[in-house]
Amino acid sequence: MHVISSTLLERHDYKIPDFIATSVKEIDFKVLWQHGLTTVLIDIDNTLVSFGAHEIHSHAAPYLEEARKRGYIKTLAIASNSRRDIGHIIEALKPDAVFQPHGFSYKPFRSYFQHALSVLKAQPEQTLMIGDRLIQDVWGARRSGIKAVLVKPLGRDLWLDKLILTRWRERRLLRRYLPHHREHWF
Ligand SMILES: [Mg+2]
Repeated sequence: MHVISSTLLERHDYKIPDFIATSVKEIDFKVLWQHGLTTVLIDIDNTLVSFGAHEIHSHAAPYLEEARKRGYIKTLAIASNSRRDIGHIIEALKPDAVFQPHGFSYKPFRSYFQHALSVLKAQPEQTLMIGDRLIQDVWGARRSGIKAVLVKPLGRDLWLDKLILTRWRERRLLRRYLPHHREHWF
C-alpha cells in the first residue's frame, strides 16, 4: 500500500486517492487504524469480486475478518452501486451494514455517502472508502470528506463503461496524477 503525499492531494483535486493498493489484501489496515480510519466502506464489483460475480476473490474475506478481529476495522460496510442480489457476498463478509442504490442516491453522489455516514453514526474523518473506480469511489468519497483507497480492478468492466470510455479517462488522470506509480495506471 502506498500513501499519497498530502502536497499532491492539496495541489490537485478530489480524484486523487489518499492511498493506493494493488488489491484488498495489500491494504495495511494497521496503518489506516493509526490514521484513525476505523470505519470502512468497501465496493464489491472489481474490488472484492470479478464484475457481477458472487464469489469473493482469493483471500479477501479472511483478510478483512482478521483486521476486524484485531480491532483495526471497527465497522465494515458494503458500498455498492449494484442493485442485484448480493446475498452470497453478505454471507461471506458479514458486514455491519449494506448500502446499495436507493432512488437517485448512489455513488458518487454526496447524498449516498451522507446517508451511509448517518446510518453508521460515523464521522467522515474516521471513514475510509475502498474501491476500484476513480470517480464513483475516490471522487465521491473524498468530496464528502472520506478518505479513499484505490485498488486495481479485478476483472473486466461493464459494457457500458467500455462504451463511454470510463477507464480510458481514468487512466489518463492516473498517469497525470500518479506518475511514479505506473503499476496503477491499469
Ligand atoms: Mg467497483
